[in-house]
Amino acid sequence: MTASAPDRGSADTERVLERLRVQGHRMTPQRRAIVAEVIATRGHISPQAIAARVQDRVPGVNASTVYRTLDLLEELGVVSHAHTERGAEYHRSEHRDHLHLVCAGCGRQESRPAEDVEEARRGFARGTGFMPDFTHFAISGLCEACRGEDRDG
Ligand SMILES: [Zn+2]
Ligand SMILES: [Zn+2]
Ligand SMILES: [Zn+2]
Repeated sequence: MTASAPDRGSADTERVLERLRVQGHRMTPQRRAIVAEVIATRGHISPQAIAARVQDRVPGVNASTVYRTLDLLEELGVVSHAHTERGAEYHRSEHRDHLHLVCAGCGRQESRPAEDVEEARRGFARGTGFMPDFTHFAISGLCEACRGEDRDG
């Protein structure tokens, strides 16, 4: 799920770096490399994975540099985080509206569109007054294979 091929050009990266510069943030080689890695990632990436990948290319990247840069990118609206079994993971904000499903049986993870639970969300809000956001934390359950013959529908 952290596998990625840098597919979006560096134009996106340059745009983000420019926004950071305009806001007066210092652009160190470490920070540039972190931004490039995040922009090039499809799907989710953990701060640890970013640090590991960037360290291969740019020495002197530590976890706190990664966290600070991710915070900045989140303030800019470039990335969002979600909590999965492995901890916080980041993805680009335009991919925000999805559920993270984790099977308690086999550990498989998958994503579903947030619309899938829209009705449940509204029903819950009608009953309790509280509108849940199911996209922020992974939802634990059982996948089709692990439910096996217990399937009821
Ligand atoms: Zn959070
Ligand atoms: Zn996600
Ligand atoms: Zn399963």
